[in-house]
Amino acid sequence: MKYSELHYERIDVDVSRKLMQGMVERLNSASTFDEHLKVIKNVDQFNRDYASYAAMASLNFSRDIHDEDAKAEKEYYDSIGPDMMECLEIYDKAINNSKYKVEISNKLGETFIKQVEMSLKTFDPKIKKMLKEETVLRNRYTKLTAGAQINYKGNKYNLAGLGPFHSSRERSVRRNSYHARFDWFSKNSAELDEIYDNIVKLRHRMATELGYKNFVQLGYMRMGRSDYGPEDVAKFRKQIVKNVVPVVKTLHAKKKVILGLDSIYFYDNINFKEGDPKPKGTPEHLVEQAQRMYRELSTETGEFFDLMVNEDLMDLVNRNGKRPGGFCTSFPKYKRPYIFSNFNSTDHDITVLTHEAGHAFQYYSARNQPLMSYCWPTMESAEIHSMSMEFFTWPWMDSFFKEDTERFKYKHVAGSLSFLPYGACVDHFQHWVYENPNVSPAERNEKWLQLEKVYLPTRDYADLSFPRSGGIWQGQSHIYQSPFYYIDYTLAQTCAFQFWKKSEQTPVEAWNDYLRLCKAGGSLPFTKLVELANLELPFNDNCLASVVKHVTNWLDGIDPQKL
Ligand SMILES: [Zn+2]
Repeated sequence: MKYSELHYERIDVDVSRKLMQGMVERLNSASTFDEHLKVIKNVDQFNRDYASYAAMASLNFSRDIHDEDAKAEKEYYDSIGPDMMECLEIYDKAINNSKYKVEISNKLGETFIKQVEMSLKTFDPKIKKMLKEETVLRNRYTKLTAGAQINYKGNKYNLAGLGPFHSSRERSVRRNSYHARFDWFSKNSAELDEIYDNIVKLRHRMATELGYKNFVQLGYMRMGRSDYGPEDVAKFRKQIVKNVVPVVKTLHAKKKVILGLDSIYFYDNINFKEGDPKPKGTPEHLVEQAQRMYRELSTETGEFFDLMVNEDLMDLVNRNGKRPGGFCTSFPKYKRPYIFSNFNSTDHDITVLTHEAGHAFQYYSARNQPLMSYCWPTMESAEIHSMSMEFFTWPWMDSFFKEDTERFKYKHVAGSLSFLPYGACVDHFQHWVYENPNVSPAERNEKWLQLEKVYLPTRDYADLSFPRSGGIWQGQSHIYQSPFYYIDYTLAQTCAFQFWKKSEQTPVEAWNDYLRLCKAGGSLPFTKLVELANLELPFNDNCLASVVKHVTNWLDGIDPQKL
């Protein structure tokens, strides 16, 4: 069946509430563990229906934000989210109080019980109204940024559409297009500040209402983190400052030589004088190449990608009205993932076919896990699959980049390493924001600039006045949409670099470790998944040092001027 043929409907809150009350009665009166298990399966099926329809509604709107019907469906699902949490809360409570908790754990794994406990700690009917307000604010951010119409060289572009100009080989094009971008942000920064200010204060209120000091602990639990806390993450950020920031400084100095420039400014975010590597061929051609690649990589990936193509489970090319960005979503009822992106003729298009496809492949591999909540892991684990797939597909990069292949690889490795301090900066910023929920927008910008000095000391915005004033973080959607979801990329990158090293040294073993990790889905928490994949835990003191050593060895072996 193709995506367009999948059945969609609205789930009714009242019907769901009655259904869930019935489930709870069955649980409470059940006299055997088997009856308990049947209820758990029934609720899981209900969750699959609900999650699938909600995901479809959200996706359809992302595909065309001007489609009024799609908008109405998305708004419907947004509006019932907190009510549905309330419906499920009574079930979670019944599971949490079940006399068969030990048996449930033995049968389904500890993770399920942990998930139930965590969702009880992150929700209470008394914050329902605030959760609805949070959704409204989030949607305001999406609407504002997705609706950006930026005049550049006589044409109108959305933010994603400006991307190719930002990486033009002509310095003036890069500079001017960034000016156009930041002019838009400058004009809208008061509204962006207002949205953020409201959302931070709202999250703080929810946290205190639930009995927490501030939003930090609640934020961690909302990310499903049961096995590490802010102290572990703070230590990891320190590892980044110690081991990665100095290497990034070296790369920055190297870049001056490569580009033949005396100073490197923010808008010089290209890697080569001739411009960045570009994929060769039309989007259709690139997808054909990807299909061949996945068939050659392994039986499993071949079957997976054929399914994505045959069932129209990808919407890849940028067009007006499409929400910016790229993501992978899923429809658990149908056991299918879906990839959304905005191809814009940059090397990013190929990253979609490897990174987002890595997410989708993991979902596909874990689709038969017994519970819906076991199909996706928490985000820091999910990004391991996607970022590692970017490396496992290296041997096929020449079919996309031809003569630009080596350049792409250099950019990939140098870029992935340079990303770590940025990721840590975004994370550190968010911790500070939620520890200080009452500061002014100007103080937030000031803090951002201070943190840039620690994590991104070589950044120079030249005459771009908006980022100079400290507001650049407003373009980072995660900061608004998914608090504390960002360090995940750096933890996962640290693991993906390890897979890269292994895939070169012991390729068969590396792939088997990867496959095992994908199939495990979210049945285990992050630290356990890392162990299962035979990787070193990023929180360990020397983990990053040894990872960075491998990366710098590779980078040192390349003369970028010869690329
Ligand atoms: Zn990802």
